[in-house]
Order: sequence, then structure tokens, then C-alpha cells
Amino acid sequence: MICKKCGIDGNFTWDQQHNENTGKWRLYDLNMERPHDCPGMKVEEASSLETTMPKPRVKCPQCDPLKDSAWMEREKLQHHVRTAHFGFW
Ligand SMILES: [Zn+2]
Ligand SMILES: [Zn+2]
Repeated sequence: MICKKCGIDGNFTWDQQHNENTGKWRLYDLNMERPHDCPGMKVEEASSLETTMPKPRVKCPQCDPLKDSAWMEREKLQHHVRTAHFGFW
């Protein structure tokens, strides 16, 4: 049967024992001899989490704090200070 969540066609059966214990239905993978968990779903979740994670930004202590350009990624700050504010030291 085909898992409706991830679309994988496997040797699944409904896990009746699990249903009796929890009242929830889940698929049991007869080939793997363990409950089926959707592999495709997990990858999708992880990658979407990664892309929506905002990069932490730091404010340049030398720039005008009112300017939006004073905020940058931490890796870029060192280079920015060296190039944009060289001579201020
Ligand atoms: Zn699945
Ligand atoms: Zn700056």
C-alpha cells in the first residue's frame, strides 16, 4: 500500500497494536520490521528550516547606527572595518 503522507509504496500494514495503545493509526513497515516514518517528509522539513533561518547580524561600531548598512553578517564585519574604516584607528 502507498503511504499517503510521503507517497512511498511499500509493504505496509496498519499498526493495530499502536492504535490500541494510543488511539492513533500509523503504518508498520513489514520489510523493515519497524514502524514506517516518512523519510521524504523529514528532509523537506530540515531543508526548509535551514533556508528560513536568518543569519545573525552584527552592527558595525564605526558606522552611522541609523544607517541600515551598519548591520552585516559577522563574517563580513572584520573585512568591512578594515576596508571602510581604515584610517580611523
Ligand atoms: Zn510515509
Ligand atoms: Zn562600518
